[in-house]
Amino acid sequence: MKNNRIGLALAAAAGLLVASCTPDNNKATETTTAPEATKTVAAPSFNADSAYAFTAKQVAFGPRVPNTKAHVATGDWLVKQFKAYGLTVKEQPFEAMAFDGKMLRSRNIIAQFQPTAARRIAVFAHWDTRPFADKDKEKKNAPLDGASDGASGVAIALEMARVLSQQPAAQQPGVGVDFILFDSEDYGYDSSTQGDLKDQLALQGKDSWCLGSQYWSRNLVPAGYKPSYGILLDMVGAKNAKFSREETSRQYARDVVDKVWNTGAQLGYSDFFLFQDSPGIDDDHVYTNQAGVRTIDIIDHLPVGDDYFPAYHHTTQDNMSVIDKRTLKAVGQTVLQTIYNE
Ligand SMILES: [Zn+2]
Repeated sequence: MKNNRIGLALAAAAGLLVASCTPDNNKATETTTAPEATKTVAAPSFNADSAYAFTAKQVAFGPRVPNTKAHVATGDWLVKQFKAYGLTVKEQPFEAMAFDGKMLRSRNIIAQFQPTAARRIAVFAHWDTRPFADKDKEKKNAPLDGASDGASGVAIALEMARVLSQQPAAQQPGVGVDFILFDSEDYGYDSSTQGDLKDQLALQGKDSWCLGSQYWSRNLVPAGYKPSYGILLDMVGAKNAKFSREETSRQYARDVVDKVWNTGAQLGYSDFFLFQDSPGIDDDHVYTNQAGVRTIDIIDHLPVGDDYFPAYHHTTQDNMSVIDKRTLKAVGQTVLQTIYNE
């Protein structure tokens, strides 16, 4: 899910601050970050058809809800795919309690490209799907396909792994890359739609979202993991997706936000990567940042307004019909180029 962490009050206050500036001051304070000098190493082409097929494949397994056969089968397939591309794969099994007391049999999947390289970049996504479409107008208890919310980020990670594995030694990036797929991210309690239920974890002062990244942050795999930074991909496949500069990302890794957004602009994807700030979102990067991995979140949401998340969010509409190859390409190529700029 991903709640807006600070709410509209603070956003409104920020708006007032901007409004109180005189026009002259405004010019001086409204600095856009100058694009960094780009290195000339062009990344190989990220294939959107392939990323689309990886999204469809996950959806075809059925909803990837923990404790289901589809979930196990999808996890096994992801491990097999990464291994087929020659990556070093580690699985991190764990059991986590959901807000409703259910024990979720879960696993995080860690796939390393160039595992011995000293400098590393992490690419995070979540591979589970929400067990109920609680924001749906009609089918609130139905599971959802999670085509964008889940599958798209994983698909981009897989396609990046495939492309990297195909490069001859002279055309590989100067850093190692770790694809870290979290489980049980989306089983959380949403007070706006599930107010009739009791969040047993909240009673213990615990967050019911992001259970996989919470577990990983307390039990790092690889041990002592310390990449240069991380990029979380969440809801990165839908048509007309908009990515704003989310608050937690800016607080922990402003330079990475600027790198990625500037790279997106240079590649012609400014219609996706908005140079606008947005409030914090409760997502896996909260926990990876707490674990010392400076992480940004690329997530489909608008910077302001009540309809913060796209209409398909946590509804049965989050299916292949919302997926757009151009969005997959924009995100995949931008992140790949960011890695090649290192
Ligand atoms: Zn979600």
